[in-house]
Amino acid sequence: MNNKQKILLILDLDETLIHATETKLEIDPDFKYAEYFVYKRPNLEEFLNEMTNHFALAIWSSADDKYVSEIVDIIRPNGITFQFIWARSRCTLRRDYELDRYVREKRLKKIKKQGFPLEKALIVDDSPEKTRDNFGNAIYVNPFEGNPEDKELIILSNFLKSIKNSENVRTIEKRGWRNKIDL
Ligand SMILES: [Mg+2]
Repeated sequence: MNNKQKILLILDLDETLIHATETKLEIDPDFKYAEYFVYKRPNLEEFLNEMTNHFALAIWSSADDKYVSEIVDIIRPNGITFQFIWARSRCTLRRDYELDRYVREKRLKKIKKQGFPLEKALIVDDSPEKTRDNFGNAIYVNPFEGNPEDKELIILSNFLKSIKNSENVRTIEKRGWRNKIDL
């Protein structure tokens, strides 16, 4: 099976895969990046190594381009390839009147232009407002803020494996996804 046929799994970075903070937490960080103490979400390597067997992987963060590319270089397990690593410059700035602020949105029509069908694309994010246009493709995770007991990636991995062969991810009810799997 080649990557074109696999579902594309687009992963957010901050508070989804890592937590970067200028204020050190009680536990030691996994690494330092510029002025940030960076904590990897528990089970991150296992998650990426498992997901690459079932999905084509990509990263899309609304953070600064240089930060994203350098952080991904550090956390990427050996042998993992990302279809793309996108950052702020690929986001669309939109005024969100409900939140009364500007939001950097990830608009999936940009990946459609790259030849990835939206029926076969999932985006995982802790910030629903950033994928508002794409809720049919989105899976929202709890934000990771450094809790060493966090189990989100294990639960997410189980859910994703249960839908990996879907022909159209947009028809899958993804709200309440945590309750759809046996732990
Ligand atoms: Mg995030």
